[in-house]
Amino acid sequence: MAIKVKVVERPTGDVSYVRATLKGMALTVKHLFDVNGRVTTQYPEEKSPISPRWRGTHRMLTTETGKARCVACGLCPTVCPANCIKLVPGEDEEGNRYPLVFEIDEFRCIFCGYCQEVCPEEAIHVGRHYENSEYSREGFVYDLQRLMDQSHPVCEMWDPEDPKGE
Ligand code: SF4
Ligand code: SF4
Repeated sequence: MAIKVKVVERPTGDVSYVRATLKGMALTVKHLFDVNGRVTTQYPEEKSPISPRWRGTHRMLTTETGKARCVACGLCPTVCPANCIKLVPGEDEEGNRYPLVFEIDEFRCIFCGYCQEVCPEEAIHVGRHYENSEYSREGFVYDLQRLMDQSHPVCEMWDPEDPKGE
C-alpha cells in the first residue's frame, strides 16, 4: 500500500475549537450506538491475529532426537543488548558442545530478535506468543527445558527481499 502524505495547514489567527469538539463528540455518539460496527474483542475468548513478525516468548527448537539444537556457540548471549541470556557451555566425550545451562530472562528481554538472527543453528527463536504473565520476576526466567517445551509458532524475521512481508 502506497503511503500518502496529507499536509494540514495550521490556522494563522484565533480559532474556535467548538465545531471540532462537537464533530468529535458526534463521532463518539455515532460509534456508541453502532452495534454492528463495534470493534471490542472479547479477550481472552477471542483473540486478534498477530503479525507473522511478532517477536514474543522464546522457543528453543529441538533435533529429531528431542535434544536442543543449541551448540553453545555463545553468539546469542554476546549479541543480546539486554544481557538476559545465560549460557554455560558443556562438551560431550566426542567434543560436541551443548548447553549445560541456557536461560533467558523474558522480563529483561527487549524482544529485538537478535538472538534468532545470529544463531547459526536456528535453534533459538522469538515466538508469536505474548501470554506470558507471571506473579514474580523469577517466573520470567525460562530455563532450557521450558524453552524447549514451548510450542507456539516462531517469528518470521524481516526479509530485505520482501520488506512489506507480502
Ligand atoms: S530478543 Fe534480543 S533482548 Fe531478547 S534475548 Fe534475544 S537478543 Fe536478548
Ligand atoms: S546462538 Fe544458537 S547455537 Fe549459539 S548459543 Fe545461542 S542458541 Fe545456542
